[in-house]
Amino acid sequence: MELADKLALLAGAARYDASCASSGSSRGAGPGGIGASSPAGVCHSWTGDGRCVSLLKLLYSNACRNDCAYCASRSSADTRRASFSPEELVRITMAFYRRNYIEGLFLSSGIFSDPDIVMERLVEVARRLREEEGFGGYIHLKVIPGSSEKLLRRAGAYADRLSANIELPTQASLSRLAPQKSGTEILGAMRLMSEAEGESREESGRARGWRRAAPPPFAPGGQSTQLVVGASPEDDRTIVSLASSLYRRFGLRRVYYSAFLPVAPDPRLPPPAAPPLRREHRLYQADWLMRCYGYAAEEILGAAEPSLDAELDPKAAWALRNPGFFPVEVESAEYERLLRVPGLGITGARRIVAARRGSRLEAEDLGKMGIVMRRARWFLSLRGRRLGEELGPELLRPLLAEGGGAARPPSSQLELAFA
Ligand code: SF4
Repeated sequence: MELADKLALLAGAARYDASCASSGSSRGAGPGGIGASSPAGVCHSWTGDGRCVSLLKLLYSNACRNDCAYCASRSSADTRRASFSPEELVRITMAFYRRNYIEGLFLSSGIFSDPDIVMERLVEVARRLREEEGFGGYIHLKVIPGSSEKLLRRAGAYADRLSANIELPTQASLSRLAPQKSGTEILGAMRLMSEAEGESREESGRARGWRRAAPPPFAPGGQSTQLVVGASPEDDRTIVSLASSLYRRFGLRRVYYSAFLPVAPDPRLPPPAAPPLRREHRLYQADWLMRCYGYAAEEILGAAEPSLDAELDPKAAWALRNPGFFPVEVESAEYERLLRVPGLGITGARRIVAARRGSRLEAEDLGKMGIVMRRARWFLSLRGRRLGEELGPELLRPLLAEGGGAARPPSSQLELAFA
């Protein structure tokens, strides 16, 4: 097969993997090298359907001996198969990079052979790029669960980010839809990455203490994973709890949620339907609350709430379930309390804390700080006086509900805009 045909085929097959935002690394090329991993704009380019395209996203091979029901490359799929060689991938990456088409490489693969052999090929591509081409751009490698610790550590020496996709929220769903995958192996790979990251941080700290050059960090952009949403019956509470546990146990930087997109009929899958983009969007919002706003998974969805509210963002939904928490006093509330006010984000809360140190705040100052007062006023007080009428949850709900439309904003925009 011609190289251009392979490229089209294996780039097309890679586009379903959402776990590729390139944040969290600041690697640069050494003398005589080329590229840097963190110029402006690298992390935040998205296609119209929300997929990241700032990296050259490719599969090493779409040949796979596994038969995951939701995957276009599964062994039973009637599709053309192809594989790159390391030389071809290095050549393509460098050519695209030099032409300024891309800022880095995201490389995954079907399981065309033993996990160690597949992982070894991915590592070899990264090694050649770093050591032979002096490539300082971003590299995200997919970790093949079941491959050896030695290979995984080598992958972390060359890559900025690693990811092992958990794909489905429970072992029961993995067994049904991805029978050759093992939750234990996937979690085992995450644990190894987490340990290697911790050791790398400790070594860097010791080196700094001794004023020695620090060794190259292990995958400085950390690890991420992807969960397919809607292919299996688990509810949002199960997914949010799982994400929370992955952040806590393995220090993941990001969990990505990918609305299930039927690529081919399979009796193991739900009937064909539009991808659940609204649900995916709500899960990203819930995730953001856990990572950046200090919410526990159980606060976002309690035992009586299996699903995120389709009409309310999870922060507004929590506020309506907890009227006793409000109003929050602008003059004296801690930063963490301010963050719980709908319409008030990280920037707004910081601005309030900074501004009230030096002067007496007035209600009209809040709008000028970028706070969305049409949402926030129902939940704030200033020197003991509510800024909005006291309304019960039933009356507040329509005021906070979002209009129709299931389009999801790219998650990078979401992070900037969500309050
Ligand atoms: S292991 Fe499963 S998800 Fe990965 S390429 Fe093979 S069939 Fe697809």
